[in-house]
Amino acid sequence: MERKKLNFYVVVETGLHIGGQAEYEIAAIDNVVVKDPQGFPYIPGSSLKGKVRSLLEIQGQRGNRSFSNLDDDVNKPSDEKQPRICKCGKCAVCRVFGYSSNKQSQMSKVIFRDVYISREEPQINDYQPPVDFIYRDEGKTPRDFLEVKFENTIDRYNAKASNPRQTERVVPGTVFSGKIIMLEDGELEEPYNSRISHYYEKLDKRFKVNNANDYLKLVLIGLSLLEDDYLGGSGTRGYGAVKVFLRE
Ligand SMILES: [Zn+2]
Repeated sequence: MERKKLNFYVVVETGLHIGGQAEYEIAAIDNVVVKDPQGFPYIPGSSLKGKVRSLLEIQGQRGNRSFSNLDDDVNKPSDEKQPRICKCGKCAVCRVFGYSSNKQSQMSKVIFRDVYISREEPQINDYQPPVDFIYRDEGKTPRDFLEVKFENTIDRYNAKASNPRQTERVVPGTVFSGKIIMLEDGELEEPYNSRISHYYEKLDKRFKVNNANDYLKLVLIGLSLLEDDYLGGSGTRGYGAVKVFLRE
């Protein structure tokens, strides 16, 4: 059986920083982004999945939509390194994203592949990007997708700027192309190449996850929540605004 795949674009609207290892870097940038072996930035599937899951849990609680059984700490900032995750095994999020407690565990029904820069120009309807799309066509090098942002940390006591830090970011306009594999089949009703924002609002408040179509919807809601939040670090300082589009 062919598995259902959810193909999507992530368009970077403000500089994106998902931290990587500096060990291979020669330049002394404090905070480098995660890169593939050729040096191109990418979005690890695990970090995307973790972010989507935590947004669903927080939002499910806030909107009283029974996505998850997290009962407190729902207003913790999502910058937190270790987001609290539900392990009840019964809620929608646990059933779709998997869980493991000391009693039992269940595998995830979704596989988030690593998300790489698109090789082709994206076909997206009804969207005006803040800057031109940048994708990985002929002749592009990693430098085309990276910028270094200098940020001063202000010393509270003498009000002088000290320790300017250099943070590497993926430039606005960069188009990533990703894939999520659903281990249970489901039918997609949404049109391709269009925004999935506001998907969330269209749903019933007592949205329950009963079948594969619902699993798929939950993942779509999670992806759409990214648009009101951010990917990577320093989102509260304006980093990591993204738009997400389904593609064929
Ligand atoms: Zn749960």
